[in-house]
Amino acid sequence: FMGPPGAGKGTQARQIAEKYGIPQLSTGDMLRAAVKAGTDVGRKAKAAMESCGLVTDDIVVGIIADRISAADCKKCFILDGFPRTVAQAQALDSMLLERKLKIDHVIDITCDTEALVARITGRSTCAGCGEGYHTEHKKPKKAGVCDKCGGTLTTRADDNEETVRNRLSVYDQQTAPVIDHYRHKGAFKTVDGMQEMDTVFKNLCAIIG
Ligand code: ADP
Ligand code: ADP
Ligand code: ZN
Repeated sequence: FMGPPGAGKGTQARQIAEKYGIPQLSTGDMLRAAVKAGTDVGRKAKAAMESCGLVTDDIVVGIIADRISAADCKKCFILDGFPRTVAQAQALDSMLLERKLKIDHVIDITCDTEALVARITGRSTCAGCGEGYHTEHKKPKKAGVCDKCGGTLTTRADDNEETVRNRLSVYDQQTAPVIDHYRHKGAFKTVDGMQEMDTVFKNLCAIIG
């Protein structure tokens, strides 16, 4: 899934993963877990993540190469937040070739800039199960508590307005060119991410199903 920060990639990938039993590989989630655990990768990634820049290609490519070698990724997986540079896309092409895998769909979830800012500044995530929430668009029944598991909702340190605008400009400069890498390869599709979450989900199921 392609798309700027806040477009709804994580929200949709989680639901698709659940419905079809396909693992969701989010480099953002994996990097945050590495930072929290204080691993080598986490220590190297921390500064870039805090300054809203991108973590180096070799680190994220390494994480993905390890992850797609696991047994549950033999047949298929969803990439959420990777590749984010043309170099990562090229590295992915060679990893897939080596493993005799191919990309079925590259789906770009589009969204207006002001909506992205509002989505990210209102975002929270359950520390227990990872379910996503929003202050306006997906309120939990009880403030600060996950409907699904009763876990505590947390907000990301990088989800504030200033940081978001920086991340959006990093997206325009470094990630938007990745779309051109895929646009002419045949499997490229666009889904309007400004629609209701359920409608976006239906559109995605129609493509993937
Ligand atoms: P991304 O993974 O692309 O950065 P998320 O899936 O985390 O984006 O979504 C960002 C925020 O916007 C979350 O709080 C989520 O609940 C909310 N959101 C996602 N999709 C929609 C939508 N279609 N309409 C309104 N809000 C949405
Ligand atoms: P977003 O909501 O901005 O899409 P993510 O959770 O996908 O956030 O990513 C959070 C941070 O992790 C990014 O700002 C970046 O520093 C780092 N990151 C995630 N995926 C990648 C990637 N593929 N390449 C480089 N850096 C990444
Ligand atoms: Zn939960």
